[in-house]
Amino acid sequence: MTEFNIDKLVRENIKNLEPYSSARSEFTGEASVFLDANENAFGSPLDENFHRYPDPLQWQLKVDLSKIKGVPPQNIFIGNGSDEVIDLAYRIFCEPGMDNVIICPPTYGMYKVGADINNIEAREVNLTGDFQLDVEGVLSAVDEKTKLLFICSPNNPTGNNMDRMDVEFLLNNFSGIVIIDEAYINYSRQKPFIQELTEYENLIVMHTLSKAWGLAALRLGLGFASEKIIDLFNKVKPPYNINQASQQLGIKALANIAEVNEHIKIIVEQRSLLQQQLSEFDFIKKVYPSDSNFFLVKTDNANKLYQYLLAHQIIVRNRTKEPLCENCIRITIGTPAENETLIKTLKNYA
Ligand code: PMP
Repeated sequence: MTEFNIDKLVRENIKNLEPYSSARSEFTGEASVFLDANENAFGSPLDENFHRYPDPLQWQLKVDLSKIKGVPPQNIFIGNGSDEVIDLAYRIFCEPGMDNVIICPPTYGMYKVGADINNIEAREVNLTGDFQLDVEGVLSAVDEKTKLLFICSPNNPTGNNMDRMDVEFLLNNFSGIVIIDEAYINYSRQKPFIQELTEYENLIVMHTLSKAWGLAALRLGLGFASEKIIDLFNKVKPPYNINQASQQLGIKALANIAEVNEHIKIIVEQRSLLQQQLSEFDFIKKVYPSDSNFFLVKTDNANKLYQYLLAHQIIVRNRTKEPLCENCIRITIGTPAENETLIKTLKNYA
């Protein structure tokens, strides 16, 4: 097992950073007159309590998430979408122009874009032919400047889980931070890695409320990690990164887990049905198995099929340019009516 030392991974300027101290985070206790934050004490044109700055650490939302996820609130970071979690990981751990990270294409595009924005080298180690991690390839791409390894499981766009043994092996043998993106975990049979935070000091798990929770517009991305890592995220994030409307609505939504579970059940059923129906078309060469709310199909001509569906006002994701995905289209599971429209439209495709 590789020795883990977080101090060796954090950028010097972040270690030395004196974080911004907001009015709302300096004050604790009871008060009735707030003259500390240059807000408009008369209120806003809206009825809600929007004239006050929101809780910088989103405590109530974290307490509610904690009950659902089974992770203590102090091990949770909330980002303005998972994309903020990804960006902060680069800014905390990676020295621009010097450090590198490893990503495993075909995978979620923001890992590479985040690297490019922050001027960090992204070393690409493609998945194997069956869309699994190339463990040896990953380890041989690592050098002393490799700070992060991104693993997406279930993976976008391939839809499958990464083999748990491979992920555990990498957690044990890579001395940098392993970020496991479980955005689609609610549709998967895989056990979430958030239960392993005490086991692995070098683990960050990402979840999001944009998928199964149906809150893509609110931008609530979640990072789960050791308190040491969460403290770094809190130190570097913008003071009020989650707005009051998102916090309030997030709390309201979390009270309704039954509805979310019902949607998950229907989506998983619809996934099987749609996969089965698609496999019957001649022009579909392969339907890939999925643990997500989408799946990949290989067609005889992805550009042609994409254009045909577009002309019929159906938008899917053409992934043909991604490594290992030649002529592949990614299809998100819709409502039963939307899925039926797709199948009916495809019946007229020649
Ligand atoms: N991770 C993965 C694997 C995704 O596919 C997506 C969205 N396409 C995200 C994260 C983004 O999540 P968020 O809406 O929380 O930024």
